[in-house]
Amino acid sequence: MKEFQSTHGTLLVLQRGEELIETLEQYASKQQLSAAWLSALGGSGSVTIAWYDIDTKQYLNKTYSAALEITNLTGNMSIVDGKPFWHIHGTFAGRDYTAVGGHVKSLTVGLTCEVLMTPLDAPLSRQHDDDTGLMLLCQPSSES
Ligand code: ZN
Repeated sequence: MKEFQSTHGTLLVLQRGEELIETLEQYASKQQLSAAWLSALGGSGSVTIAWYDIDTKQYLNKTYSAALEITNLTGNMSIVDGKPFWHIHGTFAGRDYTAVGGHVKSLTVGLTCEVLMTPLDAPLSRQHDDDTGLMLLCQPSSES
């Protein structure tokens, strides 16, 4: 991964074979980030995306092993159990130009992944929500 500083955030350029979430977790730990937002584009080698079924409160996963264009990633980072937790959604397009998308479980870079990451000055955390069964974003002070 390469890193460039900008006044609008940090540009991270991931290389072929790097795992997105793992790489971002390591970066956030090293930089001691407490909250961040990101947008990105590039090309994936393989990606597992998920759709959340509110009735069963389970994620349904689907893996795409073919090369796809990463047409967009949007995500944020909070601290959960003392560690960086990235929540990223994405859309991807294949050779037939149709798009698929969902909650990104894992992504291996196939071409490149160009990330603009903006650290936030308000620390974020996540708290379990009984209604949805999800860990929802909150400010650390509102944790109970
Ligand atoms: Zn999600």
